[in-house]
Amino acid sequence: MAGQICYCGQLAKVKTLWMDGNPTRRFFGCQSYEENGGCGLFSWLDPPMCERSKNVIPGLLRSIRSMEEAERKANKRERKLRFLLIASWVMFIALWIATSGSEGEKNEM
Ligand SMILES: [Zn+2]
Repeated sequence: MAGQICYCGQLAKVKTLWMDGNPTRRFFGCQSYEENGGCGLFSWLDPPMCERSKNVIPGLLRSIRSMEEAERKANKRERKLRFLLIASWVMFIALWIATSGSEGEKNEM
């Protein structure tokens, strides 16, 4: 990947577009764009997307995002179940210690 120098003399930054019109197409932009708008450099690194990928990629990105969302929800449910399991074990052990403790006292008498 060849570097490009922008109008203010810095090495241009490679950025990726995630918009529906040009998804995942990379371009060179000014490094100081976030700070002060930069020098306005804008030049494409990747060739234009064909109509087919313009139509397909946004759909793929959307399905990846919804899969990640579903996975996040599943993880949350799993954490809750694990917590309930541990909590019930703690209660069980506490109960067991309490009952075996009182039995021990009985044996001493
Ligand atoms: Zn610049």
